[in-house]
Amino acid sequence: MDEAAKERLLRAIALAAIDHADELTALDQAIGDGDHGLNLKRGFEAVLADLSVIAAKPWPDLFKTVGTTMVLKVGGASGPLVGTFFLELGKALPPDPAKADLVAAVNKAVEGVKARGRSEAGQKTMLDVLVPAQAAFAAGADGARVKAVALGAAQDTAPMQAQRGRASFLGQRSIGYIDPGARSSALMISAAADALSLEGKT
Ligand code: ADP
Ligand code: MG
Repeated sequence: MDEAAKERLLRAIALAAIDHADELTALDQAIGDGDHGLNLKRGFEAVLADLSVIAAKPWPDLFKTVGTTMVLKVGGASGPLVGTFFLELGKALPPDPAKADLVAAVNKAVEGVKARGRSEAGQKTMLDVLVPAQAAFAAGADGARVKAVALGAAQDTAPMQAQRGRASFLGQRSIGYIDPGARSSALMISAAADALSLEGKT
């Protein structure tokens, strides 16, 4: 992928979060403190502000820079977690990745989030989207399928009881609401899948 395509991919991921900031904030108002949309917006606006510089970097540095920016700018529980995802992705990717390299790197990134959050799928967090989406991708699903899995998995967090993060303080009262981090992850994965499909990469 050339620089322009990298820029389109990054912009699509960033805008997926920024354009849905109000929705994400509303989800976080129900079972958290209502800052998730704003948190991600702050981070991705910083990425967009530096977009041409970031997109000119090779893949490993590109994702490491996005990760560092998210850790520094986002705050909250999600900043270090989303930041870790991108940082580990950058660390694991070779400069000229083939699809198998991307599958392996996404796996490392998801494992990084688990380690950082001391969490697993099933606890009503972003991992309830990241884990099944990664599994589908690793099993050879195309972009459209990965997108459908991610969006469906976010909806499926509604009946779960939160066991990590602020929502866990609500106990059973966390049941019945979609997890904000699961929804934002699904939106970002969808945007990435669409952008990569357009480039003929999935
Ligand atoms: P905060 O909870 O500090 O206000 P955000 O509102 O930005 O941070 O992010 C909340 C989201 O972070 C949750 O919806 C959940 O998906 C995710 N999250 C919180 N704690 C963890 C954890 N330990 N592991 C994985 N994801 C987590
Ligand atoms: Mg919050």
